[in-house]
Amino acid sequence: MSLQTKEEVLLDMRAAGSELGWLCSPQEEGWELLQTVVNGSLFYTYSVCSVLKGEQDNWLRTTFIQRRPAASRIFVELQFIVRDCNSFDGAPLSCKETFNMYAAEADADVGTSFRKGHFRKVATVAPDEISVRGDLKVNIETKVVEALSRKGFYLAFQDLGGCVALLSVRVYYKSCPAIVLGLAAFPDTVAGVDSVALREVSGQCVSNAVSMETPRMHCTLEGEWVVPVGQCQCQPGFEAVNQTCQACQPGFFKASVSSELCDQCPANTQRSLPGAQSCPCKEGFYRSPEDPQSAGCSGLPSAPRDVYATSITVGKLRLSWQPPLDTGGRDDMSYSVSCERCEAAACQPCGEELRFEPHSSDLRETRVTVVGLELGLNYTFTVEARSGVSQFSSSRATASLTTAVLHTDPPRVMLIRLEKQTATSLTLSWAVSQRTSRHAPRYELTYRKKDEGTTDITTYTVLVLEKNMVQISDLTPATTYVFRVTALSHEGTPNGEGKEHEFETLPQGQCGDQSPAVAGGLWVLFVLPHCRTVYRSKRRGSRARRGPEDTYFSSPEQLKPLKTYVDPHTYEDPNAAVLKFATEIHPSHITKQKVIGAGEFGEVYCGTLKVPGRKETMVAIKTLKPGYTEKQRREFLSEASIMGQFSHPNIIRLEGVVTKFKHAMIVTEYMENGALDKYLRAHDGEVSCYQLVGMLHGIAAGMKYLSDMNYVHRDLAARNILVNGSLECKVSDFGLSRVLEDDPEGTYTTSGGKIPIRWTAPEAIAYRKFTSASDVWSFGIVMWEVMAFGERPYWDMSNHEVMKAINEEFRLPAPMDCPSAVYQLMLQCWLQDRSKRPRFTDIVSLLDKLLRNPESLKTIADFDPRVSIRLPSTSGSDGSPFRSVAEWLESIKMSQYLENFSHAGIVTMEQVLQMKTEDVRNIGVRLPGHLKRIVYSILGLKDQISTLSVFAV
Ligand code: AMP
Repeated sequence: MSLQTKEEVLLDMRAAGSELGWLCSPQEEGWELLQTVVNGSLFYTYSVCSVLKGEQDNWLRTTFIQRRPAASRIFVELQFIVRDCNSFDGAPLSCKETFNMYAAEADADVGTSFRKGHFRKVATVAPDEISVRGDLKVNIETKVVEALSRKGFYLAFQDLGGCVALLSVRVYYKSCPAIVLGLAAFPDTVAGVDSVALREVSGQCVSNAVSMETPRMHCTLEGEWVVPVGQCQCQPGFEAVNQTCQACQPGFFKASVSSELCDQCPANTQRSLPGAQSCPCKEGFYRSPEDPQSAGCSGLPSAPRDVYATSITVGKLRLSWQPPLDTGGRDDMSYSVSCERCEAAACQPCGEELRFEPHSSDLRETRVTVVGLELGLNYTFTVEARSGVSQFSSSRATASLTTAVLHTDPPRVMLIRLEKQTATSLTLSWAVSQRTSRHAPRYELTYRKKDEGTTDITTYTVLVLEKNMVQISDLTPATTYVFRVTALSHEGTPNGEGKEHEFETLPQGQCGDQSPAVAGGLWVLFVLPHCRTVYRSKRRGSRARRGPEDTYFSSPEQLKPLKTYVDPHTYEDPNAAVLKFATEIHPSHITKQKVIGAGEFGEVYCGTLKVPGRKETMVAIKTLKPGYTEKQRREFLSEASIMGQFSHPNIIRLEGVVTKFKHAMIVTEYMENGALDKYLRAHDGEVSCYQLVGMLHGIAAGMKYLSDMNYVHRDLAARNILVNGSLECKVSDFGLSRVLEDDPEGTYTTSGGKIPIRWTAPEAIAYRKFTSASDVWSFGIVMWEVMAFGERPYWDMSNHEVMKAINEEFRLPAPMDCPSAVYQLMLQCWLQDRSKRPRFTDIVSLLDKLLRNPESLKTIADFDPRVSIRLPSTSGSDGSPFRSVAEWLESIKMSQYLENFSHAGIVTMEQVLQMKTEDVRNIGVRLPGHLKRIVYSILGLKDQISTLSVFAV
C-alpha cells in the first residue's frame, strides 16, 4: 500500500478551450488550432501536416506557465496522433513520424517574443501506435522536465515535417499529501525538490501525543510517502483512536506513554474520571509504592493467629504463629515482634539484653527465636502482620501471647525398652523426661543393622513418630539392629544425639511374644507421613539401594516412606547437619591437580580421591579460601548438607567433606565437560537434536527428584548444570547462601535479594514466590538454552526489558531447528498462571515419550531467523545494514569463519548476499549448525532488504 500521490495541475490545454492563445512560428503556416466536435462537445487541437512541403521547422509555444516555488520537477502528459508517412502518396524522405518537446525558463512572461535559442530540448516524442487515414490512434506519453528554478517556463513543440495532432497537454507537479500517520502529522510536501529521490520530512505529534525522536517520513519523486521513522505515542491518560489521542473513558486509565489502550480500573479501586492516569484506591484499600499502577489495591492483613512459644533451652524461646486468615490479597507478608516485660501489673519494654533471631521485624517466616530471657518472668510478645500497604494505615493487626519462662528443655528420651520381639519385627517403647512444652512431643527413630556399621554400606532408616512406642516389621531374622531415639522440638530439631541401643530379632521359625498382625497396622497410625529413609553409602559409585527394611510395614502403598529434604537451618548446630548427611574424608586421601573453576568460597579443583582399600577416582574439590569467617564456613558446608541428602543419577553426587581440618573441602564426582552452557557454546551444532532432548530429559529427571523431596532450587540455569564425559547432565549448585550471592546473573530486586531475572518466573521476581512451579519456568529457559546451544536467553535485552516483555506476554521464540513438541513444552513452562504449568513428573514423562518415538522430533517449530538469531543478524545494532563482513559475522557469533570468507574473495556484504547454501559450504563451513546459522542469516538479510525496498506503509 502506498500513501496517495497528489497532482497539482499548472496547465491544462483541454480545460482552456479556445482561450489557449499559443504562439505558432511561422505564424500562418505549420501548427494551427482546429475545432472538432466529439460527442457533441467542442474540442480544440493543435495540428500540423506539411508533409508534402519538404523540410519544415514549425514551432508551437505554450503561454507562460507559472511555477510553484517548490516544484522543480514537473510532468507533461501529452495526448497526440501521428500519421504514418507511408499513408501519403509520394511523401518525401524528409517526412517525420516524431516531434520534439522543448522547454525554456523565464522570470516573466515575454509575450510574443519568441527565440528558439532559449529553448532546451526535453524529449523526442514518438508514438507507440501510428495512425493511417480513417484509423486514428491516440497516444499518451508523460515527459519529465527537471531542475526548474526560475519563476516560470514555456513549453514548445517542434515539427520537422510530420503530420501530428496534439489533443491534450497537461502540465503538473506531484506532491505527497498532508497526512497523519503513527499519531504524527506530516505537511503537504512537493515531490522531487532538488531532484532528491527521498525527501525527509519531519512530522509533529498530534495533540496529547509525544515521541522520543522526531517522527520522520520520506516523500518519493513520485509523491508517495515511504519509510516512516519514529512514532508518537499517547501521553498517560490518553489512548490512540483513529490517529488521535483520546482521553481514557471513565473507569479506565493509562499510566504511561505507550501505544497501549487504556486499561480498566483494577480491583478495589474507584471509578476514575475521564483521562485518568491511575485509578485511586477505594477507601480502606491501598497501593504500595512498589505496586504498578495496573495492580489492584489491597486491604490490610488481619492479625496473625495462634501465637505460641516453645522453649529451646533456658533463656531461649521459639515463638511461632500462623499467617493471618486475610492477607488483604497480598503475598508480601512480613511480621514484626515486640516484647514487654510485666511485673506486678506494670509493663515495660523488654530492653536490649533481649535479642530476636534473625531479627524482630521484617520477618518472612512465621517464627522467631528470642534469646536472653530471664527465668521466671512474664513476657508479653506482640506479633504484627504487615504487608506492602501497612505503612498507609495506622491500624495494626496484632496478636499477643504472654508467657513465663520456665525450665523448658524439650523432653529427653531416657530409656528404650524392647516390648515385643519376633523373627521379623521388634516393638520398642521409651520413656521421656518430664514434659514442659504444651505440644505433644515427636520422636526421630533411626535404626540400622549392626554389622553394616563395619561394612562399606550403611543404610539408616529414619522414622518420625508421634507416640513413644513403635513396631518395626519386615526385619531380618536373627539380626542385631542398632536403634537411636531422640525427641524433636516443635520445629523438628532433634534434641541431642540420643544413645544407641541394640536389639535382636528372633531366629526364623522361633515363636516369640508375637503381636497379632493388626498390631503392626495400629502402630502405623503413629508414623507421620513424612518419614524418610536415608541411605548413607560409604562406597564410591554405589547408588542408593533398597534393603528389605525400606518398606517398614506390610501395609498399604500410601504408607511407603516419602523422602523429604531437610533444611540444614533447622539444625541448631549446622556441623551436626553436615556430619549427619556427609561422610568425613581425611585430607591425605585427596590430591588436588588443577584449578577448574572459581566458586563463591574459593577455587574448585579437579583431582583424585584415594581411600585405602578402594579404587582411585577423579573428583572435583571445592575449597574454602583462607581468612573465612565461621559464618562463611557454615554456609560453605551447608551445600554438602543439602547435596548429601540427594541420591539421584542426575544430581551431582557428594563424595564427602573435610570438616575436621583447617582447610574445609567438599568433594563431589568430577564432571569432565564442566558447565552445560559453556559446553554447548563450544560445541554449537555438533550435538544432535535427539541428544539435546536426552540431556533435557536427564535434567528434568533430576529436578523431578528434587521437587519430590520438596526442594526448590531457585537458580536452575544451564550454567548450574554439569556435564560428564558421557554427556549426562546433573543438577548442581546447592547451598543456602548461594541464593544467589555467587551467581553473576543475580540482580538485586526492589524486594531485596538477588534474582537471576531472565531465568526466574514472574511471581518469584515480583514477590519471591519460589516453588517447584517457578523451578519449572526456569527449566523452560534451560530447555531454550540447550536447544539454542547456549545462546543467552533474551540476547542483549536488559533485565528491565525482559521483565517488561514477559509482562506483555512476550515469550522467547523457538530456537533454530527446535522440534515443535519441545518448543510447545517450553511455552507451557512459561505460563503466567503457575498452577497451569506442567509438573516435573509431567515433563519427564513427555520427554521420555518423545525420546522413545524419535519421529515425533521431526516436526520443527516455526523459526524466524530475524528473531531467533537475534535481530542484529539482519542489521547493525543501530538498524542500518552491516558495513562489513566482519561486523556481520561478529553479530551472529561466527567470526571464526572470517578467514574462509576473505580467502574465497567474499569481502563485501553485496557478495555475501549473492551466496547460496552450496557456496557457504564450499568456502569451508561444514558444521550443520554453523551452516544453518550463516545461511539463515543471509536469508534474513535478503528478506530485510527486500522489505525495505518494497517498503510500503
Ligand atoms: P560452583 O561454585 O559450584 O558454581 O563451581 C564453579 C565452577 O567449577 C563451575 O562452573 C564448573 O566449571 C566447575 N565445577 C564445579 N563442580 C564441578 C564438578 N563436579 N565437575 C567439574 N567441574 C566442576
